[in-house]
Amino acid sequence: MKLIEHFIKGKNYSGNSNRKGKVFNPATGEQSAEVKLGTIEDVNEAVKVAKNSFEKWANTPPLQRARVMFKFKELIEKNSDELTKIIVSEHGKVYEDAKGSLVRGLEVVEYACGIPQMLKGEFTENVGTGVDSWSIRQPLGVCAGITPFNFPAMVPMWMFPMAIACGNTFILKPSEKDPSCSMRLAELLKEAGLPDGVFNIVNGDKEAVDALINNQDVVAMSFVGSTPIAKYIYESCAKNEKRVQALGGAKNHCVVMPDCDLDQAVNGLMGAAYGSAGERCMAQSVAVAVGNVGDKLVNNLAKKVESLKVGPGMDKKSEMGPLVTKEHLEKVRGYVDIGEKEGAKLIVDGRNLKLQGYEKGYYIGGCLFDHVTKDMRIYKEEIFGPVLSIVRAKDFDHALQLVNDHEFGNGVSIFTRDGDSGRTFSNKVKVGMVGINIPIPVPMAFHSFGGWKRSLFGDQHMHGPEGVRFYTKLKTMTSRWPSGPRLDPEFVMPTMK
Ligand code: NAD
Repeated sequence: MKLIEHFIKGKNYSGNSNRKGKVFNPATGEQSAEVKLGTIEDVNEAVKVAKNSFEKWANTPPLQRARVMFKFKELIEKNSDELTKIIVSEHGKVYEDAKGSLVRGLEVVEYACGIPQMLKGEFTENVGTGVDSWSIRQPLGVCAGITPFNFPAMVPMWMFPMAIACGNTFILKPSEKDPSCSMRLAELLKEAGLPDGVFNIVNGDKEAVDALINNQDVVAMSFVGSTPIAKYIYESCAKNEKRVQALGGAKNHCVVMPDCDLDQAVNGLMGAAYGSAGERCMAQSVAVAVGNVGDKLVNNLAKKVESLKVGPGMDKKSEMGPLVTKEHLEKVRGYVDIGEKEGAKLIVDGRNLKLQGYEKGYYIGGCLFDHVTKDMRIYKEEIFGPVLSIVRAKDFDHALQLVNDHEFGNGVSIFTRDGDSGRTFSNKVKVGMVGINIPIPVPMAFHSFGGWKRSLFGDQHMHGPEGVRFYTKLKTMTSRWPSGPRLDPEFVMPTMK
C-alpha cells in the first residue's frame, strides 16, 4: 500500500506517530493509499523549519522569488497530465474538469510571477518641508493554509504561490481525503529552485490543524472548507492573535428571469449544478425561476439531467464522476430523502444509479427538485452534491430577497436580457461574486476570490491584490535629513504650515 508522508525541509518526513488515514479511489471504491496524520510534534518540527528559513527567503530579492515562480509555472505545465490524473484518482472529478481546475491554480502562479511590481510600495516627496514618506509591504513570517478536498490543486494554489512570492514561508495542511497532488506540487517547487524549508506540508486532521492554530510562530492562517470549521478557525486564530482569512460553505443561487435566453440558462445551470458532481463551492444548487419561466425551465432541465453521463473520471465520455467518499455519498442521498419528506417534488431521482463494473464506486445520478421552499433543509443547508433545487419566485424583487436572506453569500448569477435587471441585481445583491449571464463567476487570478456573509470570515479575499495585502504588512517611514540649524523641541502635533 502506498504511504503518503509529510514534506518538510525539502524531503519526505515520516513523522513520529503511526496514526494514519485511508485514501480511496472514488471511481472504484478501492483504497489507494494510506496517509500519515500529523501530530503536534510533526507540526512543531515543520514550523521550526519554516521559521528558520524565513529570514533568508524574506531577504531574497522579489525578482529572484518571481523567477522560482516562473520555473514552477513551466514545471506545472510540463507535468499537467500527471497532476490531473492524480486529482482524478483521489477526488473523482472528470479529467477535463480536473485539468481546468489545475489551470485555474496555475493562473495564480502566473500572477505571482509579477510580484516585484506588486511590492513596489508608495513614496511621497515633501510630506512636510524637507520631509519624505514612503510605505512598503513586508512579509509576515510563517503562514499556514488548510484546504478542502474539492480542489486539491487549485485551492492550495490560491494560497501558497502568493504567500511565498511575498517572501513568507508556508505550511500546507491539505485535505486528508486527497493529499497526493499537494505532495507532487511540493516536489515541483523544489525542482523549480525553491530553497528547502520555504514550503512544507503536514498531512493530517484536526490534531494537525489545532497544532498550527496553537503554535505562536504561525502568524497567519488561510482556510477554505465548510462554514462550521471556518468559524472555528476564525475564532481560534483570532484568539491566538493570528491574521486569518477563513472561507466557508455556500448555497449559490441562479436567478432565471422570464426574458432570458432559456437555452443559455439551462446549459449554464447544467454545468454549474452537476459539474464536478456539485462538489464546488461555486456550484449552483438553487435555481430561482421568476414569473412564468418555471415550468419551461423544469421541463428543459429534467430532460438534460436524466441523460447526464455519469461514470469514472478517466472515461472521456463521462460528464460527471463519483462523489469523493462513501460517507459523502450517503450524506447526499440522505438529503434527497429529506427533500422528499419535506414535500419538495423530486423530478429526477439519481439515487439508484448503478454502474456495471464500478459497483463499489461512489456514484449518484443527477437529482432535480421542484417547488422547494425557503423553510426546507434542502434549501437552507449545503448539500455539496449533484442536487439542484428549483424555487419559484413571483417577481424580481422576490428573487432578490431570497438570495439576500440566505445565510451564505459566496456566488450568485442572474440570467436576463434586460440591462436594468442585471445592473440592479449586481448593485443590490449581498453576495461576494456575481455573474450576469455567467453561471460560475469565479474571478480570475488577478482579481480576488471570496464570498460574503457566512461564506467568509475575515477581511481579505484570496489571491489577486487582496492576496498580496493578506500576506504582507504595511510599514510607513517618514524621514528628514537635517541641514542648517538644529530644530528646537516641538510639543504640539506637527501640521503643515
Ligand atoms: P471541511 O471543512 O470538512 O475540511 C476542510 C479542512 O478542514 C480539511 O483540511 C480538514 O482536514 C480540516 N478539518 C475538518 N474538520 C476539522 C475540525 N473539526 N477541526 C479542524 N480542522 C478540521 O471541508 P471539506 O469537506 O474538505 O470541503 C468541502 C467544503 O469546503 C464545502 O463546505 C465547500 O463549500 C467548502 N469550500 C469553500 C470554498 C470557498 O471558496 N468558499 C472553496 C472550496 C470549498
